[in-house]
Amino acid sequence: MSESKKKIVIVGGGIAGLAAGIYGRLADYEVEIYEKNPVAGGECMGWNRKGCHIDNCIHWLTGTKKGTALRKVWETVGALEEHTEFADCDSFYTSITGNFRVTLWKDLERTKEELLKLSPEDEKEIKKFIEHVKYASECEMPVEKPMDAMGISDYIHMGASMADMPKVMKEYGSIDLQEMAGRFKHPALKALFTDYLPREYVASSFLVSYATIVSGNGEIPLGGSLAMANRMVKRFQQLGGKLHCNTPVRRILIKNRKAVGIETAAQKVVLADYVISSVDTMEMFCNLIGKMYMDAKWQSCYANTDKYPLFSAVQAAFMVDCGTYDGKGTIFFDCVPFETGGRNVTRISVKGYDYEPEFAPEGKMVVQVNIPQFDKEYLYWKGLTKEEYENQKKEAVRAIEERLLVQFPKLRGHMEFLDCWTPITYERYCNAYHGSYMSFITKKGVKSFRVRGLVKGIRNLYIASQWIMAPGGLPVAVTAGKFAIWRIARKDRKMLEKM
Ligand SMILES: Cc1cc2nc3c(=O)[nH]c(=O)nc-3n(C[C@H](O)[C@H](O)[C@H](O)COP(=O)(O)OP(=O)(O)OC[C@H]3O[C@@H](n4cnc5c(N)ncnc54)[C@H](O)[C@@H]3O)c2cc1C
Repeated sequence: MSESKKKIVIVGGGIAGLAAGIYGRLADYEVEIYEKNPVAGGECMGWNRKGCHIDNCIHWLTGTKKGTALRKVWETVGALEEHTEFADCDSFYTSITGNFRVTLWKDLERTKEELLKLSPEDEKEIKKFIEHVKYASECEMPVEKPMDAMGISDYIHMGASMADMPKVMKEYGSIDLQEMAGRFKHPALKALFTDYLPREYVASSFLVSYATIVSGNGEIPLGGSLAMANRMVKRFQQLGGKLHCNTPVRRILIKNRKAVGIETAAQKVVLADYVISSVDTMEMFCNLIGKMYMDAKWQSCYANTDKYPLFSAVQAAFMVDCGTYDGKGTIFFDCVPFETGGRNVTRISVKGYDYEPEFAPEGKMVVQVNIPQFDKEYLYWKGLTKEEYENQKKEAVRAIEERLLVQFPKLRGHMEFLDCWTPITYERYCNAYHGSYMSFITKKGVKSFRVRGLVKGIRNLYIASQWIMAPGGLPVAVTAGKFAIWRIARKDRKMLEKM
């Protein structure tokens, strides 16, 4: 008689939860995912308004280059397929400062030429930057097994494949973006290097991000974020996994210091051999298991917002019907100051989704504006009454619209508002702590946050979430899902070769 399969219950159907579900099925476990929302995907999301699709995640997906280990992971979970097509984007982003316009192109030589032409007096720093972006393009995150399970030979292999990364870390690993920008004399270059990521990010993170684009390992899969999540759902279900949407989980059941199942908000009890928490980790500690299980490392990072900041955004989407608004891609520009979430905004970014004609009716396209917000702004939004909140959102939209028209006069009479959302939206939709859709920012001089995905004092409970490794993001989420199953399978002495 065949032995019955062990059962894994996963709380949360974001990218990490779906990945855990798929790897769980590949390792021959019975798997059920419980997701609070009507659809899976979590923060890898998109939604429809007025005949348009608003894509709210993938600006670049690390691991799209064929032959890389991470690409294999994305293919295993069905997020990418052999013939997945990618957006035809030729740049990372463009910065406009006064009359100067400068772009970080996908073609690094083109960037070099453009930067040197703009500011010959910054030649030394420009050349250094370009050279180190080339070095950073070798950076690959380990995806075979969790780092704490890696042996000497794994480290030797990893070190050999990233031979030049130490040079990047030496030059850019101990300064933040603010300081990096300060090395340049031209104001447009100072702005360029503080536009994309919060300026407190360690500069090496930025180089790795740009290098991912340059090396062709950070493309945008066509169809967008929701379509990618849906492909993972399909893969999970085809493998025999069960997905329960509209089913919030109220707590993880713990007996004799061991996770034994879950209880849903509708008080249904589901027993399991293993539980994987794939929700935001603060949601897990506070609501699913109890804050007494939060160890000192988690506590100090959550408490020390200066060393471990979090960020979110106020965003607004519009439909435009005059073709392009002004060039392609993402553009940052100075604007007349205004306040949103209590923060003084002097620069905003707009992204055009011209590469996705399906996202808008024929002849139209969606553009989105993103304004960064931090802990302080989250608290501001949180402190408002419902009425004040709605009014302030309206006010933000009005201010944004006005500034877009100043920067891109061509849009006048051709722009229709679609939606506006804030850090509170992410909190409501995903239980995201303070609305943060990434993990902790890595600052210079501060050890980058990383934990093993286990909870001290509870056996058979595993964490699969972007939160277990800074800075979070989709690659961390997908590997966190894989690693949770890797640990369970190893515990059960299963063969791991399918993984
Ligand atoms: C605007 C934006 C842009 C981004 N851009 C990029 C990008 O370009 N590249 C990149 O790599 N990453 C990007 N990210 C980040 C990326 O979306 C996240 O890192 C990733 O989706 C996190 O996945 P996760 O599974 O760890 O968490 P989540 O997506 O938060 O998944 C957790 C799931 O748990 C569910 N849940 C919560 N509480 C409960 C409960 N009690 N019971 C049941 N279910 C529950 C939630 O509904 C959610 O579905 C972006 C995110 C946003 C919002």
